[in-house]
Amino acid sequence: MIYIGQQLQALNNYSSQAICWLSIKIKGRRTPRNPMGHNCGKKTCIYCLGNGKKRSGLDRVFVGVFTDKAIKSLISAEPNQLIFEYDLLKASFLAIRGTTIKRFNKNCMLLFVDSGYKDWFLKEKINYSVAKEIDQHTCTYCNKEYIFVYKNKEGGKGMVPQFDHWFSKTDYPLLALSFYNLIPSCATCNTIKSKAKFNLNSFLHPYVDSNISSTYSFSYMPTGVHSNRIVFKKEGLNSKGINTVNALNLPMIYKGHSEKELQDLIDLKYKYSENYLTILLEKTFGDLGISEQERFRLIFGIEIDEDNYHKRPFSKFKKDIIKVLKTIT
Ligand SMILES: [Zn+2]
Ligand SMILES: [Zn+2]
Repeated sequence: MIYIGQQLQALNNYSSQAICWLSIKIKGRRTPRNPMGHNCGKKTCIYCLGNGKKRSGLDRVFVGVFTDKAIKSLISAEPNQLIFEYDLLKASFLAIRGTTIKRFNKNCMLLFVDSGYKDWFLKEKINYSVAKEIDQHTCTYCNKEYIFVYKNKEGGKGMVPQFDHWFSKTDYPLLALSFYNLIPSCATCNTIKSKAKFNLNSFLHPYVDSNISSTYSFSYMPTGVHSNRIVFKKEGLNSKGINTVNALNLPMIYKGHSEKELQDLIDLKYKYSENYLTILLEKTFGDLGISEQERFRLIFGIEIDEDNYHKRPFSKFKKDIIKVLKTIT
């Protein structure tokens, strides 16, 4: 998993659209006949000046629990605040006589997942603009697949990462449109992660845990004369790192690379001469004044600064393995 940072600009741009879209689905647009409706006051807002309507089929008591502050919070609050908001709204709804948790979840599904995530976020291609602004080049969870964004100018399907819901849509449908709950990822990781239940105490969150990279580390184990297996180093790991690596099934996701990328690095270390890795890194470019970052990029195709891991697949994996190989004498 890779730390994504706060992404304030992407958050602001997404929030300004999502808050208006959601407010109108809950309260309708402000008109003379609907004075309590929503209007952000911006002359350029396509939602407040458009013809969007309230979402039909929602319980009146459900709609009644959403204040402007709650709507804003649901879209833009940080993960721990999102859980607080979830508990608060659920409690407000259940405090009303005759309500049940089943009805709460059903209403959340209709509004946030069906209308919000599927019909608005995906079909209206909001996912493209969010992905473009977040600007992560590989999957947040595996750092193994590129996740480029290209809109198809003819209007058909383009290229866009999937968005995994860190708090799952099934358990927390209310959080289906929350910015910090939408994690750009590859299809494989999104599928694997959809079956895992994450919470902030036991698992890493790519928008919360800025020390992700130091919580787990790749290594390898010989399994025969010419075969090796990728393993995750246990020492120095904290439980959040171990839980997350296992829940994302990174051991399986990386397994197939034991014979490819791992073997290539081991071959570089041993096939030519014992210190070939060091020679490669230190002698290849002579006195050309090439930075360490650039040498790793040109020789191994990876980034070695954590902030840039996402720009090349296998950055953390190869950096960790090279470190292990260089310590073996
Ligand atoms: Zn607006
Ligand atoms: Zn992935």
